[in-house]
Amino acid sequence: MVLSDLGRKLNAALSSLNRVSVVDEKVLDALLKEVCAALLESDVNVKLVSQLRQKVRIKVKAAFENSGEKSREANRKNVVQKAIFDELVNLVDPGIDPYKPKKGYTNVIMAVGLQGNGKTTTCTKLAVHYQKRGFKSSIVCADTFRAGAFDQTRQSATKAKVAYFGSYTETDPVAIAAQGVAKFKKEKFEVIIVDTSGRHKQESELFEEMKQIGSAVKPDMTVLVLDASIGQAAEAQSRAFKESADFGAIIVTKMDGHAKGGGAISAVAATKTPIIFLGTGEHLTDLDRFAPQPFISKLLG
Ligand code: GDP
Repeated sequence: MVLSDLGRKLNAALSSLNRVSVVDEKVLDALLKEVCAALLESDVNVKLVSQLRQKVRIKVKAAFENSGEKSREANRKNVVQKAIFDELVNLVDPGIDPYKPKKGYTNVIMAVGLQGNGKTTTCTKLAVHYQKRGFKSSIVCADTFRAGAFDQTRQSATKAKVAYFGSYTETDPVAIAAQGVAKFKKEKFEVIIVDTSGRHKQESELFEEMKQIGSAVKPDMTVLVLDASIGQAAEAQSRAFKESADFGAIIVTKMDGHAKGGGAISAVAATKTPIIFLGTGEHLTDLDRFAPQPFISKLLG
């Protein structure tokens, strides 16, 4: 089920409350069943869904008990709707503020993620985003594994009028990353985005490379770029990257497609890391800032 369908289903479930005259345990159970089924169909992790159900039950029970017999029905409906809304927000809110680039300082951002997730595209989108906000921005292509990676960076950075660095001859990604960051720091760039490889002969070698690049460039923020369409696999993937490249933010790409989105959203809880942007298309401006509450409000329509 794609995200817009999830929104519609959640909305329909919540609105169904307005048609009942008495909100009792049976009504709450039926409602929660609908909400949880919709979340599961969207690939949200089963454990998270059952936690959500528990938390809503506890909150609602406590509120009903406190308000006593005289509590008006309309108020009981509000209590239930608010409890579900708040727990949906909690699902995408780890309660941690992501790093915010500072003006007049060289903010180094390192992007990690498996090949095909949209990392290179996202690096340029990020550079465009910060450039528009007055940060002198640049991209370093430290992906020496994929033939054509540097050409892709060169083309998109040129199109976006963003400075870039890479090499056709240097084969050591750590050396390129270090050289690029040193050059742009010297030139007083305020945002330096380091694009890394997303594939290796062995996955363990990729993770080792992430560690080495991380030690060489000391990023202020490492971002995991995650494809919304990978579903439940997002959790294992994000955990593996968390260990090697302790990322502090997530960007979920391809939210414009037919992705269910719930899997990538579950990655937030699995790694207790905030989502900062959503990729919503192939164009350089298709990047939406992510905030938990507005996201859930918009989802519910
Ligand atoms: P990388 O291997 O992780 O660097 O991935 P790329 O940046 O090369 O992207 C892989 C493909 O995904 C390309 O065709 C991109 O145009 C596409 N892509 C990246 N982000 C998005 C997005 O948010 N929406 C859509 N529809 N396509 C995207």
